[in-house]
Amino acid sequence: MLKFYNTLSGEKEEFHPLEEGVVRVYTCGPTVYDYAHIGNFRTFVFQDVLTRYLRYRNYKVLHVMNVTDVEDKIIRNARDQGVSIKDYTARFTAAFIEDAKTLKIELPELLPRATDHIPEMVALIRRLDEKGHTYAKDGSVYFSIETFPGYGKLSRKDFSGMQSAGRVDSDEYEKKDDARDFVLWKGRKEGEDYWDTDLGAGRPGWHIECSAMSMKYLGQTFDIHCGGVDLVFPHHENEIAQSEGATGQPFVRYWLHSEFLLVEGEKMAKSKGNYFTLRDLLQAGHTPEAIRYLLLSVNHRRQLNFTTDGLRQAAASIARLEDFLARMREEAAPGEASHEFADLARGAREKFIEAMDDDLNTSAALAVVFDFVRAAYQRGERGTLAGGDARAALELVQDFDRVLAVLGAQPGLVDDEVQKQIEERQAARRRRDFAEADRIRNRLLSQGIQLEDTREGVRWKRVR
Ligand code: AMP
Ligand code: ZN
Repeated sequence: MLKFYNTLSGEKEEFHPLEEGVVRVYTCGPTVYDYAHIGNFRTFVFQDVLTRYLRYRNYKVLHVMNVTDVEDKIIRNARDQGVSIKDYTARFTAAFIEDAKTLKIELPELLPRATDHIPEMVALIRRLDEKGHTYAKDGSVYFSIETFPGYGKLSRKDFSGMQSAGRVDSDEYEKKDDARDFVLWKGRKEGEDYWDTDLGAGRPGWHIECSAMSMKYLGQTFDIHCGGVDLVFPHHENEIAQSEGATGQPFVRYWLHSEFLLVEGEKMAKSKGNYFTLRDLLQAGHTPEAIRYLLLSVNHRRQLNFTTDGLRQAAASIARLEDFLARMREEAAPGEASHEFADLARGAREKFIEAMDDDLNTSAALAVVFDFVRAAYQRGERGTLAGGDARAALELVQDFDRVLAVLGAQPGLVDDEVQKQIEERQAARRRRDFAEADRIRNRLLSQGIQLEDTREGVRWKRVR
């Protein structure tokens, strides 16, 4: 039985989609003002594991992810560079898609951009206006929290006192009646991009785009909405107020939030400067598979500390799996698996599903994969792994990888190339360029070559 921890109820709940066999999922996508860092990608990899697993469980998935392509930083950066926001964001949207593909993130069915949905946002704000949830001030339109009694039900915050509400509300649009209210439409400001609409000239607030786009493509009530935990409040709380305020219907049935990727105990964030982009890590010789493996190795509700050591361990784990696959490929032959081995494989698949059904417990699922590999090896060493068994083993690990997507067959290096890289590393060490030396070592490891520095010189071995 598939269960998810639902932020709305604070409990693990059995999952049943609104329409049998079909799951409608919305995820808050990137703000394309710069390259995404791998903290952002932890959240996107989690969402990918979710949608891949739903498909693995034979659901049809309709996944929509927005692209926030109008926002304070975007407007500022585009202006500084003298380009239109369209040109500015096109570059980082393309980079995001490319990085996502590199990490084997399956692209959503729809990737709607905020600036293509201004009329939908204006219509939604007008609906809210008709129901008395808004007020206008100096050209901007605000949502009045006191008109929506359910406000606070997702974040379980107490709104009886005054509270300033984070990201959007801490910007320059401070002319609201109540510190908790938030902006729906920002009146035009000199030198900023704007749209001429029924609401007057201006641009949308951040929250309204997600309500407008999710309901446009998924309906007024849909199954799953995801994002990082930092979006619970105020962003998702505000989405509920806007959507339910307009429709009078429940907005989202299951809210799934992923925890932060940390660096030395602190959230990885652009503003802290403690971040790595995917490109940084690839440049340092790490593979996309190892990065993905590390990001999904811990359940999404637990914080994960990012270290290069963790990445190395991830690479070593993948190398073990690749090595196993290579051996099974050699031994595989047509024919049925033995009863005993078929039982072993069936049991492993059941345990894998049991782990993933439990709120996507990826660490338990990975443990099942490695237990299975160990058990299969043990049988092989006793000389009992028949061709049919090896084929069944191969198929099972490939089946798990439909969800995990951490195996990417890379061509192995020939010995001469390994030797050449070792010499390059030695040269780097002689000129005391240890960063370069480490980079070469990591690159070799990611290609399945492990170095060992001994008194007699550098030894190396293939680890897959
Ligand atoms: P943004 O592009 O800033 O809108 O963020 C995109 C997604 O990344 C959001 O769902 C954030 O919650 C998430 N996010 C931001 N920082 C981290 C982090 N350090 N770890 C995990 N997710 C994050
Ligand atoms: Zn959103």
